[in-house]
Amino acid sequence: MKTEFDILIVGAGLAGLTTALACADSGATVALLDRNAVDTGSDGRASALSTTSLRLFENLGVDLKGLTQPIKDMLVTEGAPNSPWRLHFEGDGDGGDLGALVENAPLKAALLKQVKLQKDVSIFAPIGIRDVTRSAKNVIAETDQGSLTAKLLIAADGRESLLRRKAGITTQRFDYDSASLVTTIKHELPHDGSAWQRLIPGGALAVLPLTGQRSQIVWSGPTAGIQAATAMDYDSFVALLSEKMDGYLGDMSIAAQRQCYPLRLQMADGFTATRLALVGDAAHVIHPLAGQGFNLGIRDAAAIADGVKMARDTGQDIGVASLLEYDHWRNADSRSLGVVTHLISETSRRNFGSIGHIRRLGLALTNRSTATKSALVKRASGEARELPTLMRQR
Ligand SMILES: Cc1cc2nc3c(=O)[nH]c(=O)nc-3n(C[C@H](O)[C@H](O)[C@H](O)COP(=O)(O)OP(=O)(O)OC[C@H]3O[C@@H](n4cnc5c(N)ncnc54)[C@H](O)[C@@H]3O)c2cc1C
Repeated sequence: MKTEFDILIVGAGLAGLTTALACADSGATVALLDRNAVDTGSDGRASALSTTSLRLFENLGVDLKGLTQPIKDMLVTEGAPNSPWRLHFEGDGDGGDLGALVENAPLKAALLKQVKLQKDVSIFAPIGIRDVTRSAKNVIAETDQGSLTAKLLIAADGRESLLRRKAGITTQRFDYDSASLVTTIKHELPHDGSAWQRLIPGGALAVLPLTGQRSQIVWSGPTAGIQAATAMDYDSFVALLSEKMDGYLGDMSIAAQRQCYPLRLQMADGFTATRLALVGDAAHVIHPLAGQGFNLGIRDAAAIADGVKMARDTGQDIGVASLLEYDHWRNADSRSLGVVTHLISETSRRNFGSIGHIRRLGLALTNRSTATKSALVKRASGEARELPTLMRQR
């Protein structure tokens, strides 16, 4: 068994799998470890992927054919779809889509399939990791199947990241006392690739187009109400959801188990330490209302891959040189998106005083400004910043 690698990635979720592919593309040898079997079972969720994220997957040869539903336009309203308090985005302004929806289970399966084709990526899962030590010289992971060494350690072990805590990296955390109910519906009318986000008292209801005559529901609001809706009997839930959707998409049935996710904003105070980089939810967790959490993780993967390539091309130590720009690059992007999603979620959660009025006015005014809408679309697609190589047209 091979025991020496350039890079050791702990966590084979969406971010870890993507990072393994991106680093292998830069010519590095990679060990990908997870305490659980890398299963592709459904977590009930779908991800809205930006155009630049989709480009990265294409550049890495990940086959998403038949899995993606392009988002043609997006409507944000307070009230029914025909409400005057609305913000409407049509395409990316260059004749392209606003990204695409893909369900997490088939996405993970496609990533895993591509990882398994890489001769320079070895998967160790499920594996018990007893300890990981980092020194000026290297990284050593003691596992229940022997020890593995590498030059660089990448923590992709999720929001509760043990590696982040072991490295003494603190976080800024804000619990929303809110949760998201996620499920899939089948509906009578075609969605035509339209995404609709309805601001409702205390939160938002997102109806996001999936392949076929199906949509993903992400209903966010105060925890107690969302938990009650998750536990409700089928007929009562369909009646409640139909009422909130005001007849949009016609009759519906529920096509997947309801899942409930607690929401938080969490930012690591630093994204690197000696021979360590944080990626994905280990580095940042943001409110899902803009569908950007994993997109940030994809940009982490692309950025670290650029650092790895530069280190290899210049004959430098991967565990040191690849981190030089990483913290600066990724911290600013993640923090600014964290702040934007936080402000949007706070104004949609609160209805007292003048907040509701300001929110409605904000929607209407932004809707009239083509320049503002175009800037928002560019920000969400990741195009507003200098792009890592893997996210550019090849
Ligand atoms: C309701 C909801 C909707 C969302 N919608 C979108 C969206 O539309 N678009 C978008 O971009 N993002 C979205 N997100 C965010 C996105 O789902 C997450 O950012 C993403 O799934 C995080 O992936 P990850 O790989 O970083 O973490 P995880 O999925 O948590 O994976 C972590 C992995 O590490 C492993 N692990 C953990 N600890 C250890 C250990 N000690 N040793 C070994 N292995 C370990 C775990 O087994 C797991 O496999 C949404 C989030 C929510 C809650």
